[in-house]
Amino acid sequence: MKLHLYQHEYHDFNKFRINCGSCSGLCCVALYFSRYDGFPSDKKAGEPCRGLDGNFRCLIHGELGSKQLKGCLSYDCCGAGPVTAALYPGINWKSAPDKAGEIFDVFVKAFYLQQIQLYLTEILNLLPAEPLWEESRIHILKLHCLLHSSPEEILEFDIENFKLKVNLLFKNTIKFVKMKVNHSNGAPRKTNLIAHNFQRAVLDGADFSSSLLIAANLEGCRLTGSCLLGADLRDANIKNADLSECIFLTQSQLNTAAGNSGTRIPGHLLRPLTWKK
Ligand code: SF4
Ligand code: SF4
Repeated sequence: MKLHLYQHEYHDFNKFRINCGSCSGLCCVALYFSRYDGFPSDKKAGEPCRGLDGNFRCLIHGELGSKQLKGCLSYDCCGAGPVTAALYPGINWKSAPDKAGEIFDVFVKAFYLQQIQLYLTEILNLLPAEPLWEESRIHILKLHCLLHSSPEEILEFDIENFKLKVNLLFKNTIKFVKMKVNHSNGAPRKTNLIAHNFQRAVLDGADFSSSLLIAANLEGCRLTGSCLLGADLRDANIKNADLSECIFLTQSQLNTAAGNSGTRIPGHLLRPLTWKK
């Protein structure tokens, strides 16, 4: 019988979705990117991409696939764009150039805060992590209030210190989930798994935190309770794999992997449009 780790009713994940219509193309301006990473050109942070038009729309949006701009196709700001825009009502980096540097700094920090909040929200959805729900709720509330406060408060926030606190929560979540799936593999954990062939393996409870799974073959694998926190899944083959009950997988990781209509994904994530049938 299939083990269910997630609650049936998901907590609200909408606030972690991109909403480019309520943003000023922040990711296409604020961030450094390179051709090597699948963007159209090498660009410094704070410099607008040449593909961005005057209305903050991508001029080559319909051609990103044919031009194989994987960086553009897979990027996901975890809702940091709209959060940042809401902190600057009536202005943006273009209309208020003297504020542009600050807006970009807030956006970058909001991204990390949103990502932490996303992981904490996931804990609230995981049944084995019930002993950690109360603590997670307190941290979520703190982050929610911070992200709706002011640019100054966000910039002053000590994110490194906060990460130390939540990292312990994440570790305990992994531990509780592993116990639930009876994961008993005591072998030393490998993190360099580039192009590793796992085809059709049962990988329940495996800890892939921060692992390099670039171009790994996970076709047909089952990953119930497997932890993918910070794993690099670029070009990993996840066709027909069951990731529906894996933990700490983000939309941006999913976007970079190669799945298909047979890939099962967690209910709070969206199936990438670029996946082939
Ligand atoms: S920052 Fe987010 S919402 Fe804004 S354009 Fe980029 S992906 Fe879209
Ligand atoms: S090509 Fe389009 S999506 Fe990619 S960075 Fe430039 S404007 Fe943004």
